Amino acid sequence: MSDFWQSIVVLDSPHSAPRLAEIEISVMSFLWDRDIVARDGVEETPGFPDKKWYASRPNAARCVHTPEKWNWPYCDLDLKMPHGLTIDRRKRPMSYGDCNVEQSISCPECLQWQEDLPWHESPLSDAEHALEDSGSGPLTCPACGKVNDIRYWLGDPPFAVGKLAFEVWNWPKLKSEFLRELSAAAHCELQRVEYLT
Ligand SMILES: [Zn+2]
Repeated sequence: MSDFWQSIVVLDSPHSAPRLAEIEISVMSFLWDRDIVARDGVEETPGFPDKKWYASRPNAARCVHTPEKWNWPYCDLDLKMPHGLTIDRRKRPMSYGDCNVEQSISCPECLQWQEDLPWHESPLSDAEHALEDSGSGPLTCPACGKVNDIRYWLGDPPFAVGKLAFEVWNWPKLKSEFLRELSAAAHCELQRVEYLT
């Protein structure tokens, strides 16, 4: 049985580290004040106080489609924390999405699509590595020859580039209305991406 993840990614822009810390506080305050996740996180791995796991609270059901399917089909009820939220902070931007599916991408200049590229061995993986090494991931369009950073390409399925993401595990699909409210509260652009592990 697979686990269903959704990342709420703070889209990368020249945000300073203090601005990202502010966004993190705004997002978590929103989730805590509305009783969407528990205030007290538990260490996901003992000894790593930076990486905490916040259990889902009853109002999380208001943020998702089909809350009646909350425990199905993805949830393992034997686990102590059947579902919750964790914060992923990175020093350099990375792409969030499903690296196990074939990825179609559309050039931001000529809008031409390249279909079904594998993330592991294609221009995508070069751009991804450059992104992690240097903070920018140039990708050349075979149709028009223009070079644009991977973050400006449109993806199908969607992917998003950022240094900060809030990841929920085994929640049903998040409502776009919830994401809009969260984005307004944090004064930044957020994008939801999903993947299975
Ligand atoms: Zn192009």
